[in-house]
Amino acid sequence: MAALPDAVSLTRSLLQFDTVNPPGRERDCARYAGALLQEWGYKVDYHEYADSRTSVVARAGGSPAKAPLCLTGHLDVVPLGARAWTKDPFSGESDGDRLYGRGTSDMKAGVAAILLAARGFADKLAGTPGVVLVLTAAEEGGCIGSRHLAQTQLLGKAGAMIVGEPTSNYPLVGHKGSLKFHARFRGVSAHGSMPELGVNAIYKAARALGKLESFDFGASAHPVMGKPTLNVGTIEGGNTVNAVPDAASIGVDIRTVPGMDHASLLKKLKTAMGEEAELDVFSDLKPVWTAPDQEWIARVFEICKPYVGEAPQARTAPYMTDAANLLKAYAGAPTVVLGPGEAAMAHQTDEYCSMERIRQSVAIYEALISDWVR
Ligand SMILES: [Zn+2]
Repeated sequence: MAALPDAVSLTRSLLQFDTVNPPGRERDCARYAGALLQEWGYKVDYHEYADSRTSVVARAGGSPAKAPLCLTGHLDVVPLGARAWTKDPFSGESDGDRLYGRGTSDMKAGVAAILLAARGFADKLAGTPGVVLVLTAAEEGGCIGSRHLAQTQLLGKAGAMIVGEPTSNYPLVGHKGSLKFHARFRGVSAHGSMPELGVNAIYKAARALGKLESFDFGASAHPVMGKPTLNVGTIEGGNTVNAVPDAASIGVDIRTVPGMDHASLLKKLKTAMGEEAELDVFSDLKPVWTAPDQEWIARVFEICKPYVGEAPQARTAPYMTDAANLLKAYAGAPTVVLGPGEAAMAHQTDEYCSMERIRQSVAIYEALISDWVR
Protein backbone atom coordinates (compact mmCIF):
# COMPACT_ATOMS: atom_id res chain seq x y z
CA MET A 1 0.00 0.00 0.00
CA ALA A 2 1.29 3.46 -0.90
CA ALA A 3 2.17 5.92 1.88
CA LEU A 4 -0.91 7.61 3.28
CA PRO A 5 -1.15 11.24 2.21
CA ASP A 6 -2.04 14.03 4.64
CA ALA A 7 -4.75 16.60 3.91
CA VAL A 8 -2.44 19.19 2.37
CA SER A 9 -0.42 16.80 0.22
CA LEU A 10 -3.60 15.15 -1.04
CA THR A 11 -5.03 18.58 -1.98
CA ARG A 12 -1.76 19.26 -3.80
CA SER A 13 -1.99 15.97 -5.69
CA LEU A 14 -5.55 16.79 -6.80
CA LEU A 15 -4.50 20.31 -7.88
CA GLN A 16 -1.89 18.88 -10.20
CA PHE A 17 -4.59 17.37 -12.41
CA ASP A 18 -5.65 20.10 -14.83
CA THR A 19 -9.45 19.89 -14.66
CA VAL A 20 -10.11 23.41 -15.93
CA ASN A 21 -13.66 23.49 -17.28
CA PRO A 22 -14.05 24.04 -20.16
CA PRO A 23 -12.96 21.56 -21.38
CA GLY A 24 -13.05 19.71 -18.02
CA ARG A 25 -11.19 16.43 -18.62
CA GLU A 26 -11.87 15.16 -15.09
CA ARG A 27 -11.10 11.53 -15.97
CA ASP A 28 -7.51 11.29 -14.66
CA CYS A 29 -8.38 13.11 -11.45
CA ALA A 30 -11.48 10.95 -11.00
CA ARG A 31 -9.49 7.74 -11.58
CA TYR A 32 -6.86 8.88 -9.09
CA ALA A 33 -9.46 9.54 -6.37
CA GLY A 34 -11.32 6.34 -7.25
CA ALA A 35 -8.15 4.24 -7.06
CA LEU A 36 -7.40 5.57 -3.56
CA LEU A 37 -10.94 4.79 -2.43
CA GLN A 38 -10.76 1.31 -3.90
CA GLU A 39 -7.46 0.69 -2.15
CA TRP A 40 -9.08 1.75 1.14
CA GLY A 41 -11.92 -0.74 0.63
CA TYR A 42 -14.66 1.27 -1.05
CA LYS A 43 -16.80 -0.04 -3.88
CA VAL A 44 -16.18 2.43 -6.70
CA ASP A 45 -18.26 3.18 -9.79
CA TYR A 46 -17.42 5.64 -12.56
CA HIS A 47 -19.87 7.47 -14.75
CA GLU A 48 -18.96 9.41 -17.90
CA TYR A 49 -21.69 11.52 -19.45
CA ALA A 50 -19.24 12.44 -22.23
CA ASP A 51 -15.67 11.50 -23.17
CA SER A 52 -13.31 12.24 -20.23
CA ARG A 53 -16.11 13.81 -18.16
CA THR A 54 -15.89 11.37 -15.29
CA SER A 55 -17.78 11.32 -11.99
CA VAL A 56 -17.07 8.88 -9.15
CA VAL A 57 -19.54 7.22 -6.81
CA ALA A 58 -18.02 5.23 -3.95
CA ARG A 59 -19.67 3.50 -1.06
CA ALA A 60 -18.90 1.46 2.01
CA GLY A 61 -21.15 -0.09 4.62
CA GLY A 62 -24.91 -0.03 4.35
CA SER A 63 -27.80 -1.21 6.47
CA PRO A 64 -31.51 -1.70 5.77
CA ALA A 65 -32.37 0.39 8.84
CA LYS A 66 -30.92 3.73 7.73
CA ALA A 67 -29.63 5.21 4.48
CA PRO A 68 -25.94 6.26 4.20
CA LEU A 69 -24.48 9.73 4.69
CA CYS A 70 -23.50 11.36 1.38
CA LEU A 71 -20.42 13.55 1.07
CA THR A 72 -20.08 15.27 -2.28
CA GLY A 73 -17.72 17.56 -4.16
CA HIS A 74 -16.84 18.49 -7.73
CA LEU A 75 -13.59 17.73 -9.52
CA ASP A 76 -13.62 20.49 -12.15
CA VAL A 77 -12.28 24.03 -11.67
CA VAL A 78 -12.91 27.31 -13.48
CA PRO A 79 -10.45 28.79 -16.02
CA LEU A 80 -7.49 30.84 -14.79
CA GLY A 81 -8.94 34.13 -15.99
CA ALA A 82 -7.31 36.97 -17.91
CA ARG A 83 -5.13 38.35 -15.10
CA ALA A 84 -1.68 36.84 -14.61
CA TRP A 85 -1.14 34.67 -11.52
CA THR A 86 1.81 35.37 -9.24
CA LYS A 87 1.74 31.71 -8.08
CA ASP A 88 1.77 28.53 -10.12
CA PRO A 89 -1.91 27.55 -10.37
CA PHE A 90 -1.27 23.79 -10.50
CA SER A 91 1.77 22.95 -8.38
CA GLY A 92 0.41 23.73 -4.90
CA GLU A 93 2.82 26.44 -3.74
CA SER A 94 2.38 27.48 -0.14
CA ASP A 95 3.11 30.63 1.84
CA GLY A 96 2.48 30.61 5.57
CA ASP A 97 -0.92 28.95 6.07
CA ARG A 98 -1.96 29.54 2.47
CA LEU A 99 -1.99 26.84 -0.16
CA TYR A 100 -2.26 28.40 -3.60
CA GLY A 101 -3.72 27.03 -6.82
CA ARG A 102 -6.73 26.94 -9.08
CA GLY A 103 -9.34 24.93 -7.25
CA THR A 104 -7.75 25.03 -3.79
CA SER A 105 -10.81 26.70 -2.26
CA ASP A 106 -13.28 25.67 -4.97
CA MET A 107 -12.95 22.85 -4.19
CA LYS A 108 -10.10 20.35 -4.29
CA ALA A 109 -9.34 20.98 -0.61
CA GLY A 110 -12.94 19.94 0.10
CA VAL A 111 -12.54 16.81 -2.02
CA ALA A 112 -9.26 15.95 -0.26
CA ALA A 113 -10.92 16.36 3.16
CA ILE A 114 -13.84 14.16 2.07
CA LEU A 115 -11.41 11.48 0.86
CA LEU A 116 -9.33 11.50 4.03
CA ALA A 117 -12.36 11.41 6.32
CA ALA A 118 -13.63 8.47 4.28
CA ARG A 119 -10.28 6.71 4.63
CA GLY A 120 -10.47 6.91 8.42
CA PHE A 121 -13.71 4.90 8.38
CA ALA A 122 -13.04 2.50 5.54
CA ASP A 123 -12.77 -0.59 7.75
CA LYS A 124 -15.35 0.48 10.34
CA LEU A 125 -18.47 0.79 8.21
CA ALA A 126 -19.58 -2.84 7.72
CA GLY A 127 -23.05 -3.31 9.19
CA THR A 128 -23.52 0.45 9.71
CA PRO A 129 -25.60 2.84 7.54
CA GLY A 130 -22.28 3.66 5.83
CA VAL A 131 -21.31 6.48 3.53
CA VAL A 132 -21.64 7.28 -0.15
CA LEU A 133 -19.14 9.64 -1.78
CA VAL A 134 -20.12 11.47 -4.96
CA LEU A 135 -17.33 13.29 -6.83
CA THR A 136 -18.75 15.03 -9.84
CA ALA A 137 -17.54 16.28 -13.19
CA ALA A 138 -18.76 19.54 -14.74
CA GLU A 139 -20.23 21.36 -11.76
CA GLU A 140 -18.93 24.72 -12.94
CA GLY A 141 -21.18 26.26 -15.53
CA GLY A 142 -24.37 24.31 -14.97
CA CYS A 143 -24.01 21.26 -12.66
CA ILE A 144 -24.06 19.04 -15.75
CA GLY A 145 -22.23 16.04 -14.26
CA SER A 146 -24.61 15.79 -11.31
CA ARG A 147 -27.59 16.22 -13.61
CA HIS A 148 -26.52 13.18 -15.60
CA LEU A 149 -25.61 11.25 -12.46
CA ALA A 150 -29.11 11.82 -11.06
CA GLN A 151 -30.46 9.95 -14.08
CA THR A 152 -28.38 6.84 -13.35
CA GLN A 153 -29.01 4.18 -10.71
CA LEU A 154 -25.51 4.70 -9.29
CA LEU A 155 -26.44 7.22 -6.61
CA GLY A 156 -28.65 4.83 -4.65
CA LYS A 157 -30.04 6.34 -1.48
CA ALA A 158 -28.71 8.84 1.06
CA GLY A 159 -30.19 9.90 4.37
CA ALA A 160 -28.37 13.24 4.61
CA MET A 161 -25.89 15.15 2.48
CA ILE A 162 -22.76 17.26 3.00
CA VAL A 163 -21.64 19.41 0.07
CA GLY A 164 -17.96 20.31 0.51
CA GLU A 165 -18.09 23.65 -1.33
CA PRO A 166 -16.16 26.57 0.20
CA THR A 167 -17.75 27.89 3.41
CA SER A 168 -14.67 28.35 5.66
CA ASN A 169 -16.05 25.36 7.60
CA TYR A 170 -19.26 27.26 8.46
CA PRO A 171 -22.34 25.05 7.99
CA LEU A 172 -24.84 26.59 5.53
CA VAL A 173 -28.37 25.22 5.32
CA GLY A 174 -28.96 25.59 1.60
CA HIS A 175 -29.00 27.98 -1.35
CA LYS A 176 -31.36 29.51 -3.86
CA GLY A 177 -32.70 27.65 -6.84
CA SER A 178 -32.01 28.64 -10.42
CA LEU A 179 -34.12 28.95 -13.50
CA LYS A 180 -32.28 29.96 -16.65
CA PHE A 181 -33.74 30.33 -20.12
CA HIS A 182 -33.46 32.00 -23.48
CA ALA A 183 -36.56 33.83 -24.67
CA ARG A 184 -36.63 33.91 -28.47
CA PHE A 185 -38.62 36.27 -30.64
CA ARG A 186 -39.28 35.90 -34.33
CA GLY A 187 -39.94 38.61 -36.92
CA VAL A 188 -39.96 39.07 -40.68
CA SER A 189 -36.86 40.28 -42.48
CA ALA A 190 -36.94 43.23 -44.88
CA HIS A 191 -34.52 45.80 -46.26
CA GLY A 192 -33.54 48.42 -43.71
CA SER A 193 -34.84 51.17 -45.99
CA MET A 194 -38.35 49.64 -45.98
CA PRO A 195 -39.00 48.60 -42.36
CA GLU A 196 -42.77 48.76 -42.94
CA LEU A 197 -42.41 45.55 -45.00
CA GLY A 198 -40.95 43.58 -42.08
CA VAL A 199 -41.61 42.70 -38.47
CA ASN A 200 -38.81 43.71 -36.11
CA ALA A 201 -37.90 40.92 -33.67
CA ILE A 202 -35.65 43.25 -31.64
CA TYR A 203 -38.62 45.50 -30.87
CA LYS A 204 -40.50 42.46 -29.59
CA ALA A 205 -37.56 41.51 -27.39
CA ALA A 206 -37.27 45.10 -26.15
CA ARG A 207 -40.93 45.16 -25.10
CA ALA A 208 -40.39 41.89 -23.22
CA LEU A 209 -37.27 43.34 -21.55
CA GLY A 210 -39.31 46.19 -20.14
CA LYS A 211 -41.74 43.69 -18.64
CA LEU A 212 -38.89 41.69 -17.11
CA GLU A 213 -37.28 44.77 -15.58
CA SER A 214 -40.45 45.53 -13.66
CA PHE A 215 -41.46 41.90 -13.09
CA ASP A 216 -43.13 41.26 -9.74
CA PHE A 217 -42.57 37.71 -8.44
CA GLY A 218 -45.47 38.09 -6.05
CA ALA A 219 -43.46 35.96 -3.58
CA SER A 220 -42.69 37.09 -0.07
CA ALA A 221 -39.06 37.19 1.04
CA HIS A 222 -37.63 34.02 2.58
CA PRO A 223 -36.54 34.63 6.21
CA VAL A 224 -32.94 33.54 5.46
CA MET A 225 -32.49 33.71 1.67
CA GLY A 226 -34.34 36.94 1.10
CA LYS A 227 -36.05 37.70 -2.19
CA PRO A 228 -35.86 35.96 -5.55
CA THR A 229 -33.83 37.81 -8.21
CA LEU A 230 -33.97 38.22 -11.96
CA ASN A 231 -31.15 39.26 -14.28
CA VAL A 232 -31.06 39.58 -18.06
CA GLY A 233 -27.51 38.58 -18.92
CA THR A 234 -27.45 38.41 -22.71
CA ILE A 235 -29.17 39.87 -25.72
CA GLU A 236 -28.69 38.87 -29.31
CA GLY A 237 -30.46 39.83 -32.48
CA GLY A 238 -30.08 41.00 -36.03
CA ASN A 239 -27.26 40.45 -38.51
CA THR A 240 -26.65 43.85 -40.02
CA VAL A 241 -27.75 47.40 -39.42
CA ASN A 242 -29.53 47.78 -42.76
CA ALA A 243 -32.01 44.93 -42.38
CA VAL A 244 -35.10 44.33 -40.27
CA PRO A 245 -34.08 41.59 -37.81
CA ASP A 246 -36.16 38.42 -37.99
CA ALA A 247 -34.78 36.92 -34.76
CA ALA A 248 -33.80 38.15 -31.33
CA SER A 249 -33.16 36.39 -28.07
CA ILE A 250 -32.51 37.32 -24.44
CA GLY A 251 -30.86 35.20 -21.75
CA VAL A 252 -32.51 35.33 -18.33
CA ASP A 253 -31.17 34.09 -14.97
CA ILE A 254 -33.66 33.80 -12.11
CA ARG A 255 -32.73 32.75 -8.58
CA THR A 256 -35.65 31.37 -6.61
CA VAL A 257 -36.34 30.83 -2.91
CA PRO A 258 -38.14 27.94 -1.17
CA GLY A 259 -41.88 27.90 -1.68
CA MET A 260 -41.74 29.09 -5.31
CA ASP A 261 -43.03 26.76 -8.00
CA HIS A 262 -40.90 26.97 -11.15
CA ALA A 263 -43.62 25.78 -13.53
CA SER A 264 -46.11 28.42 -12.46
CA LEU A 265 -43.36 31.05 -12.42
CA LEU A 266 -42.53 30.24 -16.05
CA LYS A 267 -46.18 30.61 -17.00
CA LYS A 268 -46.32 33.99 -15.33
CA LEU A 269 -43.14 35.12 -17.09
CA LYS A 270 -44.45 34.02 -20.46
CA THR A 271 -47.66 35.94 -19.91
CA ALA A 272 -45.64 39.03 -18.96
CA MET A 273 -43.34 38.78 -22.01
CA GLY A 274 -46.14 38.09 -24.44
CA GLU A 275 -47.35 34.84 -25.97
CA GLU A 276 -44.90 35.21 -28.88
CA ALA A 277 -41.94 34.63 -26.59
CA GLU A 278 -40.54 31.12 -27.11
CA LEU A 279 -38.91 29.95 -23.91
CA ASP A 280 -35.98 27.56 -24.01
CA VAL A 281 -35.24 26.55 -20.41
CA PHE A 282 -31.68 25.21 -20.05
CA SER A 283 -31.36 25.09 -16.27
CA ASP A 284 -34.12 24.31 -13.80
CA LEU A 285 -32.86 23.60 -10.28
CA LYS A 286 -34.96 23.87 -7.15
CA PRO A 287 -33.77 25.75 -4.09
CA VAL A 288 -31.97 23.67 -1.46
CA TRP A 289 -33.15 24.28 2.09
CA THR A 290 -33.25 22.39 5.37
CA ALA A 291 -34.79 24.04 8.40
CA PRO A 292 -32.06 24.80 10.96
CA ASP A 293 -34.06 23.10 13.71
CA GLN A 294 -34.14 19.81 11.78
CA GLU A 295 -32.64 17.09 13.98
CA TRP A 296 -29.54 16.29 11.91
CA ILE A 297 -28.81 19.94 11.11
CA ALA A 298 -28.88 20.61 14.86
CA ARG A 299 -26.23 17.86 15.24
CA VAL A 300 -24.13 19.42 12.47
CA PHE A 301 -24.31 22.81 14.18
CA GLU A 302 -23.26 21.24 17.46
CA ILE A 303 -20.28 19.48 15.84
CA CYS A 304 -19.17 22.64 13.98
CA LYS A 305 -19.56 24.93 16.97
CA PRO A 306 -15.99 24.62 18.31
CA TYR A 307 -14.58 25.32 14.81
CA VAL A 308 -16.83 28.29 14.16
CA GLY A 309 -16.23 29.68 17.65
CA GLU A 310 -19.95 30.18 18.37
CA ALA A 311 -23.27 28.45 17.83
CA PRO A 312 -23.79 28.58 14.02
CA GLN A 313 -26.68 30.70 12.73
CA ALA A 314 -28.98 29.73 9.88
CA ARG A 315 -27.22 31.04 6.75
CA THR A 316 -27.28 29.99 3.12
CA ALA A 317 -24.70 29.96 0.33
CA PRO A 318 -24.73 32.67 -2.36
CA TYR A 319 -23.91 30.10 -5.08
CA MET A 320 -25.53 26.99 -6.60
CA THR A 321 -24.30 23.49 -5.85
CA ASP A 322 -24.72 19.94 -7.17
CA ALA A 323 -27.12 19.31 -4.26
CA ALA A 324 -30.01 20.62 -6.36
CA ASN A 325 -29.49 17.70 -8.79
CA LEU A 326 -28.45 15.06 -6.26
CA LEU A 327 -31.62 15.72 -4.24
CA LYS A 328 -33.56 14.34 -7.21
CA ALA A 329 -32.17 10.95 -6.12
CA TYR A 330 -31.85 11.76 -2.41
CA ALA A 331 -35.24 13.45 -2.06
CA GLY A 332 -35.89 14.75 1.43
CA ALA A 333 -32.30 14.30 2.68
CA PRO A 334 -31.32 17.15 5.00
CA THR A 335 -28.44 18.97 3.33
CA VAL A 336 -25.61 21.17 4.54
CA VAL A 337 -23.01 23.06 2.49
CA LEU A 338 -19.79 22.82 4.49
CA GLY A 339 -16.21 22.87 3.29
CA PRO A 340 -12.73 24.19 4.05
CA GLY A 341 -12.34 26.62 1.13
CA GLU A 342 -12.89 30.36 1.31
CA ALA A 343 -15.97 31.35 -0.67
CA ALA A 344 -14.39 34.73 -1.47
CA MET A 345 -11.41 32.94 -3.12
CA ALA A 346 -13.54 30.93 -5.53
CA HIS A 347 -12.85 31.81 -9.17
CA GLN A 348 -10.19 34.41 -8.16
CA THR A 349 -6.67 35.00 -9.47
CA ASP A 350 -4.13 33.56 -6.97
CA GLU A 351 -6.86 31.45 -5.36
CA TYR A 352 -5.77 29.95 -2.06
CA CYS A 353 -7.08 27.94 0.87
CA SER A 354 -6.08 27.87 4.53
CA MET A 355 -4.18 24.65 5.23
CA GLU A 356 -5.36 24.69 8.85
CA ARG A 357 -8.96 24.75 7.61
CA ILE A 358 -8.34 21.70 5.40
CA ARG A 359 -7.11 19.76 8.45
CA GLN A 360 -10.07 20.98 10.51
CA SER A 361 -12.41 19.97 7.74
CA VAL A 362 -11.13 16.37 7.87
CA ALA A 363 -11.88 16.34 11.62
CA ILE A 364 -15.37 17.81 11.08
CA TYR A 365 -16.24 15.30 8.35
CA GLU A 366 -14.93 12.46 10.53
CA ALA A 367 -17.09 13.65 13.42
CA LEU A 368 -20.13 13.84 11.14
CA ILE A 369 -19.55 10.34 9.73
CA SER A 370 -18.99 8.96 13.22
CA ASP A 371 -22.20 10.62 14.41
CA TRP A 372 -24.15 9.18 11.46
CA VAL A 373 -22.98 5.57 11.71
CA ARG A 374 -22.81 5.16 15.50
ZN1 LIG B 1 -17.52 24.89 -6.42
